[in-house]
Amino acid sequence: MTAEIVSVGTELLLGQIVDTHAPVMARILAECGIGCTRRVTVGDNWERLVATLKEGLDRSDILITIGGLGPTVDDLTRDAIAAALDDSLEVVPEIEDRLRLFFSSRNIPWNPSIGRQAQKPRSATLIDNPNGTAPGLFCQKNSKSVIALPGPKGEFNPMAHGRVKELLSRMEGDRVIHSRTLKIIGMGESTVEERVRDLMDSDSPSVAPYAHTGEVHLRLTAKASSVQGADEIIDPIDAKIRERLGDAVFGIDSDTVESKVIDLLKAHGKSLAVAESMTGGELGARLTMVPGSSKVFLGGGIVYSPRAKSELAEVSTSSLDNFGPVSREVASELAEGIRKKLGADFAIAITGNAGPDVDRGDQPVGQVYLALAEEGRVVVEESLYRGVREDIRRRATQQALLMIRQRLLRGNR
Ligand code: ATP
Repeated sequence: MTAEIVSVGTELLLGQIVDTHAPVMARILAECGIGCTRRVTVGDNWERLVATLKEGLDRSDILITIGGLGPTVDDLTRDAIAAALDDSLEVVPEIEDRLRLFFSSRNIPWNPSIGRQAQKPRSATLIDNPNGTAPGLFCQKNSKSVIALPGPKGEFNPMAHGRVKELLSRMEGDRVIHSRTLKIIGMGESTVEERVRDLMDSDSPSVAPYAHTGEVHLRLTAKASSVQGADEIIDPIDAKIRERLGDAVFGIDSDTVESKVIDLLKAHGKSLAVAESMTGGELGARLTMVPGSSKVFLGGGIVYSPRAKSELAEVSTSSLDNFGPVSREVASELAEGIRKKLGADFAIAITGNAGPDVDRGDQPVGQVYLALAEEGRVVVEESLYRGVREDIRRRATQQALLMIRQRLLRGNR
């Protein structure tokens, strides 16, 4: 059984609002074991909307429309569904009575366009909408189903997660499509693919790679009669992947590398401080997003200017003058300086040039030094990243998290 999602509205098409509802609907379809084969956005144009619905009905078992159920002239979805199904429209008297009462209680004069919301295609049953005036629609005709939901978030969400999910879950005989995402750090996409390529031919579970800044994700998806059943299909492949990639797999689903670093610090009973120049607090922000991080993350400094580097992290003026702020020596002194100042077990420093400009005598754009200090030792890593300012900052933060993670996982090597 397959479904298509049709988001209706010119403002979506023009990019004036972002379609946040279609992904919600796609996830619900997956949870109900129904494959979503296409997502389309169409403007408030009668011919194109009817044509889109007809094409969708030719291809798929279920069409889900979002938006365009309201009272204004550009709300065409109800009429277009009737046209695509070759159905007539009929008035539902109870809904019309309810609407008349609603509008008269607000002193809004009745007009025929309000009355359109009390109409439905003949083959439709109504889906109650306690949060708005336009009900949703569930049409069944010629072995095809069309479900129409209203656009406003406060109406769409309860209806999608409530009655619509209930209807959909019955259609595929209580099947689920369930995914688990394995998250990988410190290994490039091509290396990951090379090591698991044979597993990517599997249909159940399917294995799909996705690259993110500094991470690779492998999504394992299976279809079964329950989430537990799908997990049983996924588990053996998950185990094989971990065997091949080792501790490069840092977590699953909503795990973040920073949450894993905080877990590791807690497990080792160690504390961490940071001195951030180029990343301006991004590392600290990510670490402090993790609930309970205050037990191991002490804080640090945004040591952006040379003065901040000297005053907050005791970097010597001679190092700043001789080597420049973006240098191995300054990174090292920053890490050791902040570590001592805060009495932390570990400290990370980040200094670099995120661009886009290079002043004369500066290091090239993308040049980054990361330092990890601990009692009696400072390790400095030098990298040259490509990309725009945002990418370079993100990569440096990610690499800093990888550096402390590896130190904690692999011990004092
Ligand atoms: P109304 O009764 O308000 O006219 P409707 O069902 O006709 O409801 P639309 O007019 O298409 O819905 O959209 C109303 C509002 O809902 C939009 O302005 C937008 O804020 C939101 N909306 C509609 N579709 C989407 C979508 N796909 N994703 C996110 N928001 C949406």
